[in-house]
Amino acid sequence: MKIHEYQAKKIMADYGINTDTGYLCETAEEVYEAAEKLGKCVVKAQIHSGGRGKGGGVKLANTPLEAREIADNMLGMCLVTKQTGPEGKTVHKVLVTPANEIKKEYYLSITVDNENAGLVIIASAAGGTEIEEMAANSPEMIIKENVSVYEGYHNYNGLEVARRMGIPAELTKDFVNMLRAMIKLFVEKNCSLVEINPLIIDGNDKLFALDAKITFDDNALMRHPEIVELRDVLEEDPKEVKASEFDLNYISLSGSIGCLVNGAGLAMATMDIISKFGGSPANFLDVGGSATTEKVTAAFEILLSDPNVKAIMVNIFGGIMRCDIIAEGIVAAANKLGISVPLIVRLEGTNVEKGKEILQKSGLNIIAAEDMADAARKAVNAANGGNE
Ligand code: GDP
Ligand code: MG
Repeated sequence: MKIHEYQAKKIMADYGINTDTGYLCETAEEVYEAAEKLGKCVVKAQIHSGGRGKGGGVKLANTPLEAREIADNMLGMCLVTKQTGPEGKTVHKVLVTPANEIKKEYYLSITVDNENAGLVIIASAAGGTEIEEMAANSPEMIIKENVSVYEGYHNYNGLEVARRMGIPAELTKDFVNMLRAMIKLFVEKNCSLVEINPLIIDGNDKLFALDAKITFDDNALMRHPEIVELRDVLEEDPKEVKASEFDLNYISLSGSIGCLVNGAGLAMATMDIISKFGGSPANFLDVGGSATTEKVTAAFEILLSDPNVKAIMVNIFGGIMRCDIIAEGIVAAANKLGISVPLIVRLEGTNVEKGKEILQKSGLNIIAAEDMADAARKAVNAANGGNE
């Protein structure tokens, strides 16, 4: 789960990290009032996406009037950044913070390192808005330091990162403590990312978190009702929001073949085999082992609401799940929604004959597949406009 910068800054401040939580505003008038208190300030669009600076979502204001004018344009605008995709995100709120002098910009983050089964500190002496390009073009500028989950963080981890980043000697102690706080926060709140970019040396020669990003592990949210309260559904993909309402395991992707599968392993294998035949999946979707007709119908609704979906591939191996339930779900969804794209179905397992019979009797225009490879080949062909 993602949260906004203003929320992440509050959490970081609670952990003793030097930052400014500023004023959260929803109208240009509120921005004017905040700017009157702050003087020279920065107006920052609050969306669940980075790259705001380059997209016009971070603006410096010298006077309250200027801040109001900036807010007038920013609030309600559709902000397009590298991370939002071309559709962009509507700005509903802005954060107004005091304008800081920047003497130096660093990059600093903590994330999970699967290979080492631990945490990893990722840092760079070249932080700021160019970090992605820099990581791609000059990977040697990125510093990585593993932290064992068994041993925890030691000061020498922080000292090593500070040395390699070139943190000035007089700030090393603060830096080591800041990293300790970030790791404590990461572990206690079950995060998947804690990022400060840029971490700056400010006008007072102090380390300061100018931006803040925290992502939480969804599977641990049941431990943190206080984090769940920070959720902003407006920022999430409506398809994923609907999927979570129906307890469907769904992730939206950018391809053209909608996938409806039972079991996460089979769902991944389905995506692989689609790729093998030259296509690309529009989503990952595991309807689970105990799907009802309503759940299957909801799954179809989600797939059909995606304009990129040019064909749907149903790949079911009925174990706990019965093929007739899936077939009923397909028919119910088709009757309710009218399926306008080619539908390729591969059914196997429990009650498969009954399932096939339901589909046949429905009169729906279904492309039946013999096996997984056959289904993938037919789905790729159909998505490419073929008429096999
Ligand atoms: P992001 O683009 O979404 O990561 O948003 P950031 O909060 O990181 O802001 C982008 C860039 O705007 C930063 O890297 C800074 O260079 C600049 N910026 C943000 N706040 C200030 C500030 O208070 N003073 C100055 N001088 N620049 C700022
Ligand atoms: Mg940033």
